[in-house]
Amino acid sequence: MLIVQKYGGTSVGSAARIRRCCRRIAQTVAAGHQVVAVVSAMGRTTDRLIGLAHQVSSAPPARELDMLVANGETITAPLVAMCLQDRGLPAVSLSGPQAGVLTSNHHSRARIQEVRPTRVLEALDQGRVPVVAGFQGATEDFEITTLGRGGSDTTAVALAAALGADVCEILTDVDGIMTADPRVVPEARLLGHVTYEEMLELASVGAKVMHPRAVEIGELYGVPIHVRSSFHPRPGTMIVSQVPMENRKRVRGVAQDLDVAKVTVLGVPDRPGVAAAVFEPLAEAQISADVIVQNVSTQGHTDLTFTVAEADLERSLALVGPAAARVGAAGVSHSAGLAKVSIVGTGMLGTPGIASRMFRALADAGINIEMISTSEIRITCIVERGGAAAAVRALHRAFELDQVALAPA
Ligand code: ADP
Ligand code: ASP
Ligand code: MG
Repeated sequence: MLIVQKYGGTSVGSAARIRRCCRRIAQTVAAGHQVVAVVSAMGRTTDRLIGLAHQVSSAPPARELDMLVANGETITAPLVAMCLQDRGLPAVSLSGPQAGVLTSNHHSRARIQEVRPTRVLEALDQGRVPVVAGFQGATEDFEITTLGRGGSDTTAVALAAALGADVCEILTDVDGIMTADPRVVPEARLLGHVTYEEMLELASVGAKVMHPRAVEIGELYGVPIHVRSSFHPRPGTMIVSQVPMENRKRVRGVAQDLDVAKVTVLGVPDRPGVAAAVFEPLAEAQISADVIVQNVSTQGHTDLTFTVAEADLERSLALVGPAAARVGAAGVSHSAGLAKVSIVGTGMLGTPGIASRMFRALADAGINIEMISTSEIRITCIVERGGAAAAVRALHRAFELDQVALAPA
């Protein structure tokens, strides 16, 4: 088999941990497989580099920030390659651009446009383990880009797709995809399978265990993804197209996103084109506006409220203010310190009573719901950030997720 193994930041967080990952790569090769390794920056390196940038600049330019943070992964890859060589396993480190990761030019949130894995294939042909730096790529003009926080997952899945790998293993510091973040809900259970659709929804609303774009690419190219622990050999979670029948009829997981702020455009004239005028500048600036609510028109005016990541709040206000003035709105207000809590599961589709059970559980926990949004397989409530953890625990209990059978994969 050809296996792409991605090792996350905690898993390569020290020299000892790098040695342990290399032992695992060597064992996989010894079992007769071809391995392509994709590695993240060690531990909290990326956070540290971003922190440094903000100590020398009040607003680090996105291009320079990418030149800086891409180095986290650039350090890990050669360390892993030399450790493998030290074990007698031929290996070669490759940067994202050397591995053929070609991206759009949106710094800090670039999208992979194509992977041209010539050098990866060359290394495999020579019997060497390619060790690719995750998270980073380059544009056609050789500008260095990064794929967004958690983006090494996307490097791995995109490479697996380009190579036609049999499986992409995401090796991380938890046992797999759990019913909730085990740091928030200690009784969270491991899920044997989740669908791409469920994982995409979970990842998009804050379950940081997988980068959303990785799941999207996995589904598009039919890459089997196995999320599992790097610390032990037990199987984790398979991300697949269909989950077994018995798992369909329920909420599968709860997620939270603590980085939420909301913006309200007040007294917007109720006529065509107003929402477009407000959201177009945000889209151009690559800011994603999320939960969007427009209330009922009274006397020809409505309020338009939406959420953005808190980190994007300042920029959003700078863009929305002038747009609101242009369309004749009465003003703009905002608040930070919010969170999203969501329940996800394909079993929700067409199952009545799930929303009311969610709202009842939050009410009983004394949590006020500020906004609500839904998809076919997800319900999201915006709440005060301080109450988010309690909300997640209440929902985990209300949907009996602590009783999910311990599922062998
Ligand atoms: P890595 O460095 O390996 O990429 P991440 O920190 O990106 O690891 O992702 C793993 C973390 O995701 C876990 O430590 C856990 O706290 C968090 N997490 C959030 N939601 C979930 C979930 N539903 N299942 C498992 N882990 C989750
Ligand atoms: N090092 C990057 C981050 O911390 C990418 C990753 O770990 O996947 O976000
Ligand atoms: Mg990650």
